[in-house]
Amino acid sequence: MIIDTHCHLDDNRYKDDLNEVIKRAEDNGVKIFIIPAADPDTLQKAVQISEANENVYFAVGVHPYDARKYNRALLEKFIEHPKCVAVGECGLDYFRLPENEDDIKAEKALQKKVFMDQIELANRYNKPLIVHIREASHDSLEILESHAGKQGGVLHCYNADHELLKLAKKGFYYGIGGVLTFTNARKLLDVYPKIPLDKLLIETDAPYLTPHPHRGERNEPSYCTHIAQKMAELSGISLEEISDITTQNAKRLFRI
Ligand SMILES: [Zn+2]
Repeated sequence: MIIDTHCHLDDNRYKDDLNEVIKRAEDNGVKIFIIPAADPDTLQKAVQISEANENVYFAVGVHPYDARKYNRALLEKFIEHPKCVAVGECGLDYFRLPENEDDIKAEKALQKKVFMDQIELANRYNKPLIVHIREASHDSLEILESHAGKQGGVLHCYNADHELLKLAKKGFYYGIGGVLTFTNARKLLDVYPKIPLDKLLIETDAPYLTPHPHRGERNEPSYCTHIAQKMAELSGISLEEISDITTQNAKRLFRI
């Protein structure tokens, strides 16, 4: 079996056929799902989906794009829920920064503050982190090295970077998604062999980052098999072995 450790099932794009999406995934061997919270507006929905489906879990968090909507009290309201397995996705994203110098500074400062507050929350409640990093490896590494607790977490790493491999020793895992199946994913293909097998996780990031051969379509957890297939090929092991290893890794990290 496979665990999709990062799928946004609370996204509006599944509102009409969520049950079919889950069923298709299960038929493909994807048996457990984790919904990372991104937007505080859909957190309630993630909680509801987890309550309605035994094999769906969620995380509480605020994506760096939504840093302005950060509301610690809302996260604390759900963090002790029995289906809450992590804090995230939180992190830093410098891909879409404002134009002028002062605004850039303010944006980075806000993202860092919100990220650090969520790390503190994870440490306090002993939950692993689900971390989003884009064009911000250096700052993220600095913050995680000095603040993250021993419960570790996962780096949602479509934006792979050698620098971030250091965090494997600090209890961090690496979430591998559809980007690995892209022929132009040179950076990730270069980093992938350096990630220890016991630190690999599978994630679709559905509805985003759809793997080959479905690029252009809405992504969904059943496509985990395409990612697993590519990982097995690159690691020189069978599909069954990579599925087993990543499932054990996910169970260990998220304690499920
Ligand atoms: Zn995501």
